[in-house]
Amino acid sequence: MSALVIGAGVNELVCAQYLARAGNRVLVLDEDGLRHDPPADIGWIPPRIVRELALEGRGLRIHRPDPWATAPLPDGGRLELWHNMARSIEAIRRVSPRDAANWPAFCKRMGRLARLLETLYTAPPPDLMGRALGDLAQLAGLGLRVRRLGRQGIEDLLRLLPMPVADILDDWFENDALKAILGAAGVMHLHQGPRSGGTVFRLLHHHVGSPTGVFRPPLSNLGRVLAELPGVEIRRGAEVARIAVREGRVASVVLASGEEIPASLVVSGVDPKRTLLGLIDPGWLDPDVVHAVRHIRCRGVVARVTLTLERAPGFATLIAAPSLDYIERAYDDAKYGRVSRAPYLEARSDGPSPDGRHRVEVHVQYAPYALADGEWDEARCVALGNLVVEMLSQHLPGLDAATVERSVLSPHDLEEVYGFPEGQAYHAELALDQALWMRPIPGWASYRTPIAGLYLCGPGTHPGGSIAGAAGANAARVILRELRRASRH
Ligand SMILES: Cc1cc2nc3c(=O)[nH]c(=O)nc-3n(C[C@H](O)[C@H](O)[C@H](O)COP(=O)(O)OP(=O)(O)OC[C@H]3O[C@@H](n4cnc5c(N)ncnc54)[C@H](O)[C@@H]3O)c2cc1C
Repeated sequence: MSALVIGAGVNELVCAQYLARAGNRVLVLDEDGLRHDPPADIGWIPPRIVRELALEGRGLRIHRPDPWATAPLPDGGRLELWHNMARSIEAIRRVSPRDAANWPAFCKRMGRLARLLETLYTAPPPDLMGRALGDLAQLAGLGLRVRRLGRQGIEDLLRLLPMPVADILDDWFENDALKAILGAAGVMHLHQGPRSGGTVFRLLHHHVGSPTGVFRPPLSNLGRVLAELPGVEIRRGAEVARIAVREGRVASVVLASGEEIPASLVVSGVDPKRTLLGLIDPGWLDPDVVHAVRHIRCRGVVARVTLTLERAPGFATLIAAPSLDYIERAYDDAKYGRVSRAPYLEARSDGPSPDGRHRVEVHVQYAPYALADGEWDEARCVALGNLVVEMLSQHLPGLDAATVERSVLSPHDLEEVYGFPEGQAYHAELALDQALWMRPIPGWASYRTPIAGLYLCGPGTHPGGSIAGAAGANAARVILRELRRASRH
């Protein structure tokens, strides 16, 4: 069987590898002719993918910065959180003995829930209404996992997931900097503030795969490693303009150049909205499906500033958000279509580049895609870059002088350069109502589409962004299962 995979992001390449290893001929098409160096902050990689694709032997480097979070304190000091629990407790004790006493129990309770999510994330979502033996077995296994959480864990699961992250953090802690480090993970890439419902789910999402007490995913060079793996052919500069459908089945892929490639199996890493409403003729879809896809929320709220420094910045992950109220006020601006006057910043540095310089990637939130007062233009990007440097310089004196290069990507640029719909890196907002069995839309969470032979595999499908390669691996499992079934009939 030959398969066409659209996109050469991490999910698509993982999916392509699994399909190829099962004996299929796989061609990957990506519109990007330049092959941008993939970023390091792509999230946690499920160990099963590392093992099954033998990525360690191929130069995979997973970097867990330690301290995993550094937050400036109002008195000029820093709160640093470490992989070592005792070291974190000691650091927290200096700002709040009460919070230090609560930290281990909080981490244990969150860790338990994150491990349940991990189980859910590393398999296609079970079909809740499915009657096949596999579906029933998967549901039974999940039920057992939930039971094993114990009474406290089950209560936590039902009570906490839909809660605003600010509420749970106010319950457990008093120190503003500590609460902001955790609260920021609850709103990352989300058009919501820490007082919005469902943000505890996002805190847990960013905790999946990390050791107890670590609430940020690691960095890695997965994108580069996958792009260099043998076994699949990657064609760059090949923009897919259309997927042709005949009698409800995928028939071919038409490139922007006009070239048509026949295909009976197409896997798209392009976001669900563009795949189903742009690449295919939506006339093939049921009106209810069209309605649901049209209403997938993307709403990018992040701008990306990259600084190149000629010296080490002096941190691995700096979180510039002094309190939950600060983040909520930053969100207030976005609610009304404005860029936050005082945004929440998360700056990451992954050590020196081969040229000895240091690249600092700054996540700037909230920078909404849709602005109430005009467009994203050069002047707005320059102003945002200035604000970011000014804010970081308050904590890192001399940063401005040490910066030799600066680039600012607005949500519009992220859409144009990387194809993120409305600048949303996760392809669809990962809120509780667009997660798990409802991602990308209820009824179609299994990577299948209503078009026979057309599948989705990007972060717009379960489990979403920040879980690197999981959507691709899950999609491959579904596809291979269906190919095996078809070959038996
Ligand atoms: C600037 C930036 C910031 C990021 N921030 C984060 C972050 O904070 N957290 C996190 O976890 N991840 C982040 N990421 C990583 C990224 O969002 C993840 O890699 C993504 O979630 C994984 O999705 P993917 O690999 O399936 O899709 P993508 O990486 O989106 O890849 C899709 C590919 O499809 C190609 N494509 C799109 N349309 C077409 C078409 N018509 N024809 C052919 N090819 C097409 C695109 O060129 C692209 O290469 C960031 C990435 C970038 C570039």
